[in-house]
Amino acid sequence: MVLNKICFLNRNNTPLELRNIPVPEPSENEILVKISTCGVCHTELDEIEGRTAPPHLPVVLGHQVVGTVEKKGGNAGLFELGDRVGIAWIFSACGNCQYCLNDNENLCDDFKATGRDVNGGYAEYITVPEKFAHSIPALFSDSEAAPLLCAGAIGYRSLKLCNLKNGQRLGLTGFGASGHLVLKMIRYKYPATKVYVFARSDKERQFAQELGAVWAGNTEDESPEKLHCIIDTTPVWKPVVEALNNLKAGGRLVINAIRKEEVDKKYLLGLDYPKHLWMEKEIKSVANVTRSDVSEFLQIAAEIPIKPEYQEYDLEDANIALMELKERKIRGAKVLRVT
Ligand SMILES: [Zn+2]
Ligand SMILES: [Zn+2]
Repeated sequence: MVLNKICFLNRNNTPLELRNIPVPEPSENEILVKISTCGVCHTELDEIEGRTAPPHLPVVLGHQVVGTVEKKGGNAGLFELGDRVGIAWIFSACGNCQYCLNDNENLCDDFKATGRDVNGGYAEYITVPEKFAHSIPALFSDSEAAPLLCAGAIGYRSLKLCNLKNGQRLGLTGFGASGHLVLKMIRYKYPATKVYVFARSDKERQFAQELGAVWAGNTEDESPEKLHCIIDTTPVWKPVVEALNNLKAGGRLVINAIRKEEVDKKYLLGLDYPKHLWMEKEIKSVANVTRSDVSEFLQIAAEIPIKPEYQEYDLEDANIALMELKERKIRGAKVLRVT
């Protein structure tokens, strides 16, 4: 399923085209993976609509890829033919810069994203540098594993950036795929931490409380207690301003979004310095993921275990899955089955 041009989904609801393209050949140190499943992520909407546009078109989207090793390029020796692997948003990084050498390869100038800078997983085959492929714990089915590769891994990175101590209070504003995986992780890693969820829909708030949130309210509600840290997974601005109001002195807001939409940017004008920022409150964004974020999270998810809820679509129905994501028709993570 190929993206040929940038477009707005409210004017074109079939942005991807089903097309035959050649099976790629693995280069030196690469593997060819026969894809079984690829997760559908909100970032694909940002790519299609040009907020984080692919540098070259046409391109195959998708960065939560699960499949088996079909062929190995020269010098590739980490996997055997038939091994099951996953490919996440990080497709490659230079390996030599100060970021790469200090466990921040997500910030590398030469960071390449799967399904944006190179062809991704909405397809039957993909090639990847073998060092950037991940073994998948046996516990997970392919469809369960796919959403862990992005929503889970980036949720894990967001949580790391919170510097949370067990017992400190955490807020989650927005409660989609990533938020619900973070909540499951918190219950395990920080059992004394209370979680407060801000979400627009009744269903999301109810789901949050079923999963153990002590309180769930609307985006603009005040939490009953001020919070040490809040993770924002929404695509807009209002929750940013509202979240700052709910932080304790010295608290940190972690924004887990690759891009924000412009629709409600006017909310930023409501930013009141003493109320929202003074007292050493911080805002930090999350950018990309490292390989260790992905592999550590897969390990933790297997220990807990975390099994995401998912809904399957055939690969050729990718446009339908994307439109439902856009219209927030969400029942668990969306995954494409390649048959
Ligand atoms: Zn993603
Ligand atoms: Zn680098």
